[in-house]
Amino acid sequence: MRSVSVFGATGSIGESTFDLLMRDGGPEAYRCVALTGGQNVVRLAEMAQALRAEVAVTADEARLPALREALAGTGIECAAGTTAIAEAADRPADWVMSAIVGAAGLTPGFRALRHGGKLALANKETLVTAGQLLMAEAARCEATILPVDSEHSAIFQALVGEDMAAVERIILTASGGALRDWPLDRLASATMAEALAHPNWSMGARITIDSASMFNKALEVIETREFFEIEPDKIEVIIHPESIIHSMVGFRDGAVMAHLGAPDMRHPIGYALNWPQRQSLPVARLDLAALGALTFRAPDLNRFPALRLAREVMALRGLSGAVFNAAKEVALDHFIAGSLGFMQMAAVVEATLSRLAGEIALTSAASTLDDVLAADHLARIRAAEAAATLRK
Ligand code: NAD
Ligand code: MG
Repeated sequence: MRSVSVFGATGSIGESTFDLLMRDGGPEAYRCVALTGGQNVVRLAEMAQALRAEVAVTADEARLPALREALAGTGIECAAGTTAIAEAADRPADWVMSAIVGAAGLTPGFRALRHGGKLALANKETLVTAGQLLMAEAARCEATILPVDSEHSAIFQALVGEDMAAVERIILTASGGALRDWPLDRLASATMAEALAHPNWSMGARITIDSASMFNKALEVIETREFFEIEPDKIEVIIHPESIIHSMVGFRDGAVMAHLGAPDMRHPIGYALNWPQRQSLPVARLDLAALGALTFRAPDLNRFPALRLAREVMALRGLSGAVFNAAKEVALDHFIAGSLGFMQMAAVVEATLSRLAGEIALTSAASTLDDVLAADHLARIRAAEAAATLRK
């Protein structure tokens, strides 16, 4: 019986993972080691009972009594807080889903790798902030990282049996997000509700807003660079509003391999769960005749400054990814709180990067995770200052 843990079980990716595990036999087919969540301890407790988890951990220490109450008499251990989440990652499991949102997913991901199993990585922030360290650690521990981001799963699948030396380019597709058809001069006044109306994908709130600003695609470009170890100038982004092609790989003979499918995260999650096999998955099958056409357009960098900043980060490498991500998280918090405008998020990230370039050696590679976390910490302070200056 395979053992599994899910970090961020109560989120959008976590729920889809839970759905697949339950359809696949639940506790009869998997030994569930750890499930973690945040505020929603009632849902976390339901999931832990359904999968007969060994331990359920909430990030919020104030919610521990409620979690204990919900799991009273079940024999399932309860714990709370950041340290407890990291400790849950110390419990060996054959397959671990990393689906916490943001830099909070870093430490549990790194700790889970140490057991040398399979790490299904939805938390793209881990690669963006600590990509070189993560890939080196995975090699050292003989662990396998399986990408769960739909684009990276698509690329990974297009590369099966291929030689990386024959890859000429990687083309990441982007839906363009909720505001892709807005006139440029209206974007500055976009509200959170408007940014949340994603045309194709149902996802957590933070990544949905990041899709509208293309910060999500910016993170994914960096994620591609780190995971596939491909030069930045070989990575392209194209807007594909239908979200049917999940990404493409172009080879030196001119062939382009595309991965198509319905926009449903249970495909990439299921691929990572069953890899290297393919099993039947409960996703809608494509009806190409009904779709009729797939369309593409080049992204406008004036509209999406995040894409330009991603290029700068890839040129700097080192600690710049950690700074970029932390500043983005702070800017997003401010946008959600209503204290920054939509286009001001990129301004905060840009200001933070240039400010920190004078304070730390942005281009020097992190030698430990602590180096990454220190850069993340300092970037959050500077980004908060930049946001206070720009505050609308
Ligand atoms: P979400 O907000 O729906 O869920 C996040 C989960 O993390 C929840 O379980 C929440 O309780 C937990 N969490 C939040 N803050 C935490 C903290 N500080 N410490 C510990 N746990 C915390 O997010 P999501 O949309 O499921 O995304 C999860 C990750 O997967 C993100 O990195 C995102 O970029 C990536 N991803 C998501 C999608 C998608 O379709 N949702 C697609 C590709 C990649
Ligand atoms: Mg994606």
